[in-house]
Amino acid sequence: MKFKRKLFVSYLLIVFIPFLAAELYISSVLESRLLQQTENHIFKEASLLKTIIEKEYKNSTPSYEINSLIRKMGRALGERITFINNRGTVLGDSEIAPEELKNIEDHSSRPEFIQAFRTSHGLAIRYSTTLKINMMYVAVKIAPQDKFLGVIRVAVPLIDVKKFIKQTEYGLFAAFLVCMALILILNIAASARLSKPVEEITRTAQEISRGNLQARVYTRTRDELETLGRSINLMASEIQKRVSEISEEKETLQAILRGMSDGVMVIDGDGKIALINRVLHDLFHGDVSATGKAPVEIIRNADFQDGVTQVLDTGKPFKMELPLTTADTERIFDITIVRLTHQDKTAGAVAVFHDITDLKRIEKVRRDFVANVSHELRTPLTSIKGYAETLCHGEIEDLSRAKSFARIILKHANRLSSLVNDLLSLSQLESQRTPLIKKEINVVQVLDTSISLVRPSAEAKQLTIKVDAPEKVLLMADKDQIGEGLVNLLDNAVKYTPKGGSVTVSVTDAADEVLVTVKDTGIGIPKEDQGRIFERFYRVDKNRSRHMGGTGLGLSIVKHIILAHGGRIWVESKLGKGSAFTFSLPKRKHENKFQEVLPLPA
Ligand code: ADP
Repeated sequence: MKFKRKLFVSYLLIVFIPFLAAELYISSVLESRLLQQTENHIFKEASLLKTIIEKEYKNSTPSYEINSLIRKMGRALGERITFINNRGTVLGDSEIAPEELKNIEDHSSRPEFIQAFRTSHGLAIRYSTTLKINMMYVAVKIAPQDKFLGVIRVAVPLIDVKKFIKQTEYGLFAAFLVCMALILILNIAASARLSKPVEEITRTAQEISRGNLQARVYTRTRDELETLGRSINLMASEIQKRVSEISEEKETLQAILRGMSDGVMVIDGDGKIALINRVLHDLFHGDVSATGKAPVEIIRNADFQDGVTQVLDTGKPFKMELPLTTADTERIFDITIVRLTHQDKTAGAVAVFHDITDLKRIEKVRRDFVANVSHELRTPLTSIKGYAETLCHGEIEDLSRAKSFARIILKHANRLSSLVNDLLSLSQLESQRTPLIKKEINVVQVLDTSISLVRPSAEAKQLTIKVDAPEKVLLMADKDQIGEGLVNLLDNAVKYTPKGGSVTVSVTDAADEVLVTVKDTGIGIPKEDQGRIFERFYRVDKNRSRHMGGTGLGLSIVKHIILAHGGRIWVESKLGKGSAFTFSLPKRKHENKFQEVLPLPA
């Protein structure tokens, strides 16, 4: 029921109940009171009449005289007075003409007569057939000196009492109607004053519950409703504050999850995925939502699922290393699963996927490097040790053998030294311990110097070295390093080109960069090895390289030098036809950053 209607019903009840009480009072108490009063009144009148009659007529009196006295009394009092003698005969009646008296029936059986005869007065209420209305009869015994002469009776029509009660009831009903009209007016006024703020409060509360936390109550009634309105406003702003705090926290969490390079999976208490972050989504999942699925549906590995179950059951953190096939490659993850708690109870688990593929690769590269270095060092050392021991055991006596052994020892020592030198420059380049000393250099001039260093060995193999370059190409670079790189490339071209071949070096001065190509007509490099020749110790033909005095580090060093200058290096080669190594050096300043060697251009 609406507040307005309730208010109306309350007002109605407030008015109706007293009216009902008044009505009940009137119908029950007032009637008997009024009858009592009427009885008392006419009893007093009858008693007075009795005194008068007893004084006037001490003995029996002629009926016509009594009759005239009674008529006088009736006129004076305005009531019906009757005198009935001791035999029940009506001797006088104020309402009946004297000539009619003889026709009146005997009154000795009237209850008020009998009662008055027996006691001293009698009362009766009954319907008067003469007057056709309810009448009250009060009779008083007339008995001077104990001689019963008759009774004097006063009769009052009860129509007045009834009329009075009816009038009072009508009055009450009219008052009730007036009150009702007032209530209606009051209700309209009260609606404006009371239900308007109540309705506003209700409307605002509903809006808040629908999610509009900006809704406010503006009621100013200076009463409890205003206090209620203020409390609702306070509650709404508190909720708003909490909601914005929660959404801020959520956004921070989302930002952390988004920004994390690790994959994150949150699992709820039922062992179902509550959320996964973008990294994990992109790695394993694609477009379908992971929420609500079992972890094993996304990470198809039983050990991982067991790990999640174990954490949820025992609360103990779980760690594992897992190779997983992601969207494009096979990657290795270090997975940590920990329990999520809420009020000391397990609320779920969170699994963090840390990609350790690169770490593993670096680890492997280092291991391989150590193994390679040891192997490369061991070969010449074994030879040196062997020949030195042989010399110690007497071969030194044989001078010609001793000389030959010493030459071998020297050769291996040189090899060791160049190996150590190459390793040293490689490690310096990698650790960037020796910073680049960049100055303006003429690349063509550096190239000429480098060619002059390899020319003797080229001439020994009857190789022609051609240069296709402008006179001057200026560039900011580390002269020594660029020189070292060029020597390495030229040295390889000479080493891997058979007698009578040629080596062509071209320099192109482009808009943003300088391109240098060292091209030979040598043995060429198989397609499958082209991507790996820049790796440390990688050689297409180990024996041939060693025989040529190579360390397998030359191209690695060149790659590092070029990358340190912000350039690129690549190779184009055809087996049996020759190879062309090209590097670029940017003309603009660049960040000194090491990168992987770029894939070969098509
Ligand atoms: P090395 O000291 O063995 O020459 P590098 O790092 O300089 O080591 O070269 C790695 C490998 O690349 C060589 O062993 C060789 O197989 C191949 N290579 C380099 N340059 C050439 C070239 N100009 N022609 C053919 N093969 C080459």
